[in-house]
Amino acid sequence: MAHVITTACIDVKDGACVPVCPVDCIYEGGRTLYIHPDECIDCGVCVSACPTQAIFEESRLPSELAHFTAINREFFGVEVSGLDSPGGADGKRVACDHPAIARIIPIAVRAAA
Ligand code: SF4
Repeated sequence: MAHVITTACIDVKDGACVPVCPVDCIYEGGRTLYIHPDECIDCGVCVSACPTQAIFEESRLPSELAHFTAINREFFGVEVSGLDSPGGADGKRVACDHPAIARIIPIAVRAAA
């Protein structure tokens, strides 16, 4: 089990969760943050730090957000970021996003349409 970052982080990336994570397992992508599922120790500290309520314990994910478990995991694979399991974000930022995130139309573009 791990914690999972979901929709409310996209195009916000407040980042308040990053410095409170005791194992530095929250990584920055282009439009959202991602939690490394194998590095997360499930402490829950990030949940209360997030101002947009984007983070859930995996077992408490609302059904409409269940696909974010795979999104967070797949982000680290060779077909997306290729980060694998570096053992800590260490402030690094990756420009890409999981394809399911990249496909979402930014809020500003939607509002202007
Ligand atoms: Fe980091 Fe704890 Fe949040 Fe996992 S649950 S991402 S270890 S702060």
